[in-house]
Amino acid sequence: MRAADIIFQADNVSATFIHQFRADFPILNLKIGDKPLVYLDNAASSQMPQFVIDRLVRYQTTQHANIHRAVHYLSEIATHEYEMARQKLQHFINAGEAREVIFTSGTTDAINLVMHGYGRKFIQKGNEIILTHLEHHANIVPWQMLAEEKGAIIRVVPINDAGELLVEEYEKLFNENTRFVALSHVSNALGTINPIKEMIAFAHQRGVPVLIDGAQAAVHLAIDVQALDCDFYVFSAHKLCGPTGIGILYGKAHQLEAMQPFKGGGDMISSVTFEKTTYNEIPYKFEAGTPPIAAAIGFGAAIDYLSNIGLDSIARYEHELLTYATERISMIPGVKIIGNSSSKVAVISFTMEGIHPHDVGTLLNQEGIAVRTGHHCAQPIMQRFNIPATSRASFAFYNTKDEADALIEGIQTVKKVFLS
Ligand code: PLP
Repeated sequence: MRAADIIFQADNVSATFIHQFRADFPILNLKIGDKPLVYLDNAASSQMPQFVIDRLVRYQTTQHANIHRAVHYLSEIATHEYEMARQKLQHFINAGEAREVIFTSGTTDAINLVMHGYGRKFIQKGNEIILTHLEHHANIVPWQMLAEEKGAIIRVVPINDAGELLVEEYEKLFNENTRFVALSHVSNALGTINPIKEMIAFAHQRGVPVLIDGAQAAVHLAIDVQALDCDFYVFSAHKLCGPTGIGILYGKAHQLEAMQPFKGGGDMISSVTFEKTTYNEIPYKFEAGTPPIAAAIGFGAAIDYLSNIGLDSIARYEHELLTYATERISMIPGVKIIGNSSSKVAVISFTMEGIHPHDVGTLLNQEGIAVRTGHHCAQPIMQRFNIPATSRASFAFYNTKDEADALIEGIQTVKKVFLS
């Protein structure tokens, strides 16, 4: 057992221990004006530890060359490190094989890859695609584009007032035309953790493949794609303490092999003549052109960093923070938390009576507190709750109870300024 686990399992989470993690993140020492930064926008992008920054610098200063295309020393090193990063991702999500991990530019790109590679080949007129009311636009718009092109139909799983999927309604949506399910593991706007394992099993009993948007889950929960048995699982590095511009698509080998390529170009081919091109094997079939090599290697370093702490330990600590902050925010008159599922990650979306969320965000910023305000690229959820926007505080393992207290004080200040 790692030291991290021992400390996290203690009844009282050690403040010293959290501060050790905080020390890994240089940006957390910033001041916004004269106030210490309280960074609570982790659901949009988390921060990068020095360990990952150093890895990027080492790559750029001693290892950089293009990959897969030369026999010289640097190219071999860069290729090796890039493929090592793929293996790290494989182990992180317990994929059966490294070739089931495709590097993409992020979650959005990965979903578009599946839409083009799988959807455009296998979805036909009159076929139905099931989405949920909790999806980010990235897991709505590509499927709408496909439905428009093919004459397919989108079906949507509704949610209850707590922001939880109505699983019995999901089951009722299936019929002989259902061909695909795409759903989020965790809602970015509300934090709800969806019962994806049961939902995947239900779809599979009817022969329907399932894509899981794991953008908000992979940094909070240990992911085991074999245990989940999902056909596709996607997420971005920048929400896991890694660089922007890189993410992965996990796909079962047989699904990826059956799919058509998304982008054409170098590296994704096996041979090219003007008459005919044959495609490379997976994963390369889906990695056309020079990939973001440095970002992939940085992603691998971020995975090392998170794995060293342990996702179960992270989940336990963040749950404690969530409970602490939720209890206190709920007690503030005029503040309403949107999304009260009993199964949540540390995301608190809230509205304040008589105050627009953008004003809340602006005033909190003056206190050094970074939250996100708006529709969070999830307009259907806002429509469901009949609100234009929320303020969203999203916590990471490097946030502290003191920062939760700062948020609560900040909310009180906003109230005073607006309502006095
Ligand atoms: N899906 C969910 C649930 C998200 O939260 C996000 C980003 O916030 C995305 C997809 C899109 O991720 P990216 O912008 O990294 O492609």
